[in-house]
Amino acid sequence: SKAALFDAENKVKITFKDVAGLEEAKEEVQEVVEFLKNPGKFTILGGKIPKGALLVGPPGTGKTLLAKAVAGEADVPFFSLSGSDFVEMFVGVGAARVRDLFKQAKAKAPCIIFIDEIDAIGRHRSRGQTPGGNDERENTLNSLLVEMDGFGTDSGVIILAATNRPDTLDSALLRPGRFDRQISIDKPDINGRTEIFKVHLGPITLAPDVDAKKLAAQTPGFAGAEIANVCNEAALIAARRNKKAVDQQDFNDAVDRVIGGLEKKNKIISPDE
Ligand code: ATP
Repeated sequence: SKAALFDAENKVKITFKDVAGLEEAKEEVQEVVEFLKNPGKFTILGGKIPKGALLVGPPGTGKTLLAKAVAGEADVPFFSLSGSDFVEMFVGVGAARVRDLFKQAKAKAPCIIFIDEIDAIGRHRSRGQTPGGNDERENTLNSLLVEMDGFGTDSGVIILAATNRPDTLDSALLRPGRFDRQISIDKPDINGRTEIFKVHLGPITLAPDVDAKKLAAQTPGFAGAEIANVCNEAALIAARRNKKAVDQQDFNDAVDRVIGGLEKKNKIISPDE
C-alpha cells in the first residue's frame, strides 16, 4: 500500500555473498556491521560511532543491495525510504514521515535506516526562493537534520544514504556527525562484471557454452542491475524457445535487448548528458 514507505520486514536475508565485487566498499561497511553488533567495544575509549555514511555511485551499481547486506550481516532490521517519495508532498507530510521513521527505528535499534536518492530531499537549499516553491522539500531536509542531530551515537541507529549526485547535496548533510563518510560504489570492471554474472547465473539452468567471463567481456559499461536484467531476459528468451537450458545465443539476444532498452531510456530521460 501507499502508506508503507518503509518497513522493517526483512523477508529475504541478504548478506555480503549476494554482493559481487565491490571489495573495498564491503570492507568499509564491514566496520558499520561491527558497530551495530558490538557498539560498546568501540565507545569504551571515548570514541563516537558515526551516525551515517553516504554511498556514492551511478544507478544500479548495488548501493541498495549493499545497505541491505549490512543489515543482513549484522542481523538487524532495515528501514528504508526513497527521496523521490518526498517530491510533491503536501505541506508537513514529508517532515512528519521523517520523524515517524526515526521514531520507529529508535524503537527497533540496533538497526539500519537507508535513504535512497537522498539528493531528492538533500539538494542545496537555495536562498531567495519563490515562496511556496520547494518549501516542503526544505522542511523534510530540515527535519532530517534535526533527527540526525537529535539521537546519540550510542542509539544503535546507523543511517546509510545513497546518491549519484554528491555534488548537489546541501553541505549541512555532509558535516561531521552527519554523513561525514563517503563510500564510493563504482561501475564494475571486467572482473567485477564476471563476479556479478556468477551470482546471477547461479539459479539459471545453463548450456555448456555459457561462460561468465565471456559475458563480462560482452557487456562493457553495464552496472549490476543491467547484468541481473540480462540473466533474467536470457532465461525468459530460452524458455520461450522451448530450450532445456539457456545458451550463449539466448544471452546474445538478451544483451541486445538490454542495450536497446538503455538506449531508449537515455534518449527519453537525459537528452543533455
Ligand atoms: P539505484 O541508484 O538505481 O537505486 P542501486 O545502486 O541502489 O541503484 P541496486 O538497487 O542495489 O542498485 O541494484 C539493483 C539490482 O542489481 C540488485 O538487486 C542486484 O540484483 C543487481 N546488482 C547490482 N549490483 C550488484 C552487485 N555488485 N552484485 C550482485 N548484484 C548486483
